[in-house]
Amino acid sequence: MNINLKSDTITRPTPAMLEAMMSAKVGDDVYKEDPTTNKLEASLAHLFGMEAGLFFPTGSMANQAAIKLHTQPGEQLICDHYAHVFNYEGGGVSFNSGVSCQLIKGDRGLITAQQVASAINPPDFYHSPLTTLVCVENTTNKGGGACYDITELKRIQQVCKKHGLRYHLDGARIWNALEATDTSPKQYGEIVDSISVCLSKGLGCPVGSVLLGSREFINRAMRVRKVLGGGMRQIGYLAAAGLFALEHNRERLVDDHRRAKELEATLKKLYIIDHVEPVETNIVIFTLVPSIDPEIWNAFLIKNNISLSQMGEGKWRMVTHLDYTEAHHQKFLEMLLDSFA
Ligand SMILES: *Cc1c(COP(=O)(O)O)cnc(C)c1O
Repeated sequence: MNINLKSDTITRPTPAMLEAMMSAKVGDDVYKEDPTTNKLEASLAHLFGMEAGLFFPTGSMANQAAIKLHTQPGEQLICDHYAHVFNYEGGGVSFNSGVSCQLIKGDRGLITAQQVASAINPPDFYHSPLTTLVCVENTTNKGGGACYDITELKRIQQVCKKHGLRYHLDGARIWNALEATDTSPKQYGEIVDSISVCLSKGLGCPVGSVLLGSREFINRAMRVRKVLGGGMRQIGYLAAAGLFALEHNRERLVDDHRRAKELEATLKKLYIIDHVEPVETNIVIFTLVPSIDPEIWNAFLIKNNISLSQMGEGKWRMVTHLDYTEAHHQKFLEMLLDSFA
């Protein structure tokens, strides 16, 4: 048995999802003639109470297009120092948009309105870059799946309004936040100018993200997507997976979250584990006791065919997902307790 908790992106489409994909009606999406893609974009826009949506091959491209549309070269955006847009998009903020990042040391990837307010460069001080955009992430990835309190996101909106800043939500993992907190998609749509959502993480699709915003914003996003090489043809096959996932794979996220909580509780019982970050969704981040030879842990992982990821600073990460079944889970908990309790 292979226990793969490296990421929730490793899932493969189920037979039912493949069936939905194979029977999709398709057309050329560059001409906006793919009915299934148009349907997915409209349903997501409706769900979040936004005017329009646009399918992207990756979450990174959706975020990069949003940043490009919200800024001009030389300007600055504000984000947490753990932000995906800063750490994991290949330096795209500077490469694609000629923009710099003002990094905030938030709490597990979450920033506050007060921190945002004090990170804004005074607009009349022409020596420093002009601040024009705030990017938040919900749930946070490098921050360990932490969720925003929606009232803090509203406070950040007030700061953005007051200072004339645009506001983008990297909602690659928004499905987990929606499951874990008492919030609705429309509440997020009301607060920010644009949202990117991922279909290939918790929802289990093979490919795809959708950028949401005003009609005017999405019309402009089509050009940026084309420039980035993301104008695609018969992608209804991929959009069909998204529509299937929205209908069938949202409720089950509660299982991923329960299993992550159970992993947290079990890790806390092991002498080899130093610290486990509080689990809110499907991500578990932990460190090993410094006095333990890391080879003991590595040998355990190899021997039992377990894949996890490392996040730097000695941090390990496990992410529960659709292909991590109850059988995998029970077996893994048993192996951990047998070896290290
Ligand atoms: C996964 C992820 C993305 C997008 O990643 P891609 O691999 O480009 O699809 C963006 N933001 C966050 C927070 C993520 O977790």
